[in-house]
This record gives sequence, structure tokens and C-alpha cells, in this order.
Amino acid sequence: MLSHVPVMRMYSTDSPLLGAVHSTESFGAVDGPGVRFLIFFQGCPMRCQFCHNPDTWQLPNDPQNPITSHDTGTDNLSPQIPKYANDGKCSSYTFYTPQELYSLAKRYRSYWKNGGGITVSGGEPLLQIDFLTEFFRLAKSEQVHTALDTSGHPFTRQQPFWGKFEQLMKYTDLILLDLKHIDPKCHQKLTGHSNENILDLAQHLSEIGKPIWIRHVLVPGINDSLEYLSRLDHFVSSLKNVERLEVLPYHTHGVPKWKALGIPYPLEDINPPTKEQLTLANQLLHTDSYTGYQKLL
Ligand code: SF4
Repeated sequence: MLSHVPVMRMYSTDSPLLGAVHSTESFGAVDGPGVRFLIFFQGCPMRCQFCHNPDTWQLPNDPQNPITSHDTGTDNLSPQIPKYANDGKCSSYTFYTPQELYSLAKRYRSYWKNGGGITVSGGEPLLQIDFLTEFFRLAKSEQVHTALDTSGHPFTRQQPFWGKFEQLMKYTDLILLDLKHIDPKCHQKLTGHSNENILDLAQHLSEIGKPIWIRHVLVPGINDSLEYLSRLDHFVSSLKNVERLEVLPYHTHGVPKWKALGIPYPLEDINPPTKEQLTLANQLLHTDSYTGYQKLL
């Protein structure tokens, strides 16, 4: 059940830390182990051509915790990528304090057996890293399993992000990392940004031994060639922390949202992959060999 949040809550001056949440889902089954309470944060700097949640793109407008173009890289969006997400016409969201959001999630705690817990997705949750860290800190103070579903786009080894990310990792059990294309130039074309810092994030998580599940949306004609899948296989197999590698079929479920928002859909001519294409991709990526996740299921 996706409970869209239609009304923006007003924030008060005595609430220093607020997070903008697009929507929540009470019983997620695929975004981490067990049953998960899913939270979709508002705002994303990427412009993935296959995005099925373009209504999460718009950056939240919280004057107490402003997200700047420096944080998001939106200054660097390539000219052919529309900036519709920031024109204010496509989204609604609600501000929560970390405690409010945790109280909301905790109502479902009795369902979080077998490794279940909370997954934060988006949008791009790392844009609201201060709020996210405090939210996960609350969850971990009660031994709740925490998973972060991220594109990795905001990652940098520069301060202040680096220090904040180190803090966040103290309270994060699992990262679901989307690798959308292994080639930096093709990644730029597919998402509006290069993947260099995203691959760097994967390597950093390997260095610190943080468990990750990698997900790769297979888009025929764009990232499913033998060359690209072999390069992706080579990269992922060099990491020491991959518990699961999933190939997800490109789908067109999000197209109605693009149309409703008045954004031209760039992959009109692309069909979802066939069963054979998916099987081949799984074989080339050796997805069966990443079994670490099974201990949690
Ligand atoms: S990172 Fe996720 S939310 Fe952002 S544009 Fe890509 S698919 Fe959409």
C-alpha cells in the first residue's frame, strides 16, 4: 500500500531537524530482508530515463535545512535533461521530525520478523543526510534493522559530506545500491550524471565491510550488451561486501506519471527485456554466486 501524503505540514522555528517525506509503504517485501516499512524521501538530483517515481524529483523547500544546487549537482544537469522537477508543479510531501517518523514506522514493528525493519528510499535519501542519520540512530537505539536504498549520487570524500556519511554508517545495517550503467559516459546520458563517485562509494563500502545489495535495472539496447555486463561483472566481483546482486527488468509502470507531469518520456521506443535477455544477464553477472543475503531471509 503506497500511502501518498498529499498535505505539506508547516514547520515551526523550534524544529531544527525536519525531513521531507514523499510517501510511505507499510509492508514492503523486496527492498531488504523480511517485511519492511518503506519511506520514500523527497528530492532527487538524478534524472534517470527509466525513473518510475519522477514525482519524487522536486527538491523539498525547507528553509531550515536547505538543499542547495551545490549539494545536488543540479547545476550540472546536461542541457537536454529537463529540470521539471524543480518547477514546483509535480510533487507534494510532508515534513517530519525524526521522532515523528520513527513513531509512524514503529506501529508496524510486530511485522518485522526474520530480519525485517525499515528501508529508506526515494528520491535520494542522502540529500537529507542529517535527518536520515538521526532517524536511523533512533531505529538502531531499539535494534531495528535499517536499510538505505540509494543511487549513491551525493557521495563524495569531501567534507562535510564525508564526516556525515561516516556517522550515518554507524546506524545503517544494509545499503541497497543501484548501479545503473557501468560506463561513465553512458551513465551520464542515462541519468544526467557520471557514475565515478557512485563506483567510488561501492569501493568505499567494500573497504569498510558494509553489506550491500546491488541492483541493476536491465534496459535493452542501453546497458544489456555483453561488453557492459562483463565490465559490470568485473567491477562487482572486485568488491568484498556484496551479499546480493539483482537484475531488475526495465518496466514502463512509471510512464503515466511522466505524462501527468508533462515530461516527455525518453524511452518510448524501448520494450522491457525478454525472459531470455534476463537469463543471459543473470548468467553474465553471476548473480547466483552472491548468496550472503540468504542468511537474513
Ligand atoms: S535515482 Fe531513483 S528516484 Fe532518482 S531519478 Fe533515478 S530512478 Fe528516479
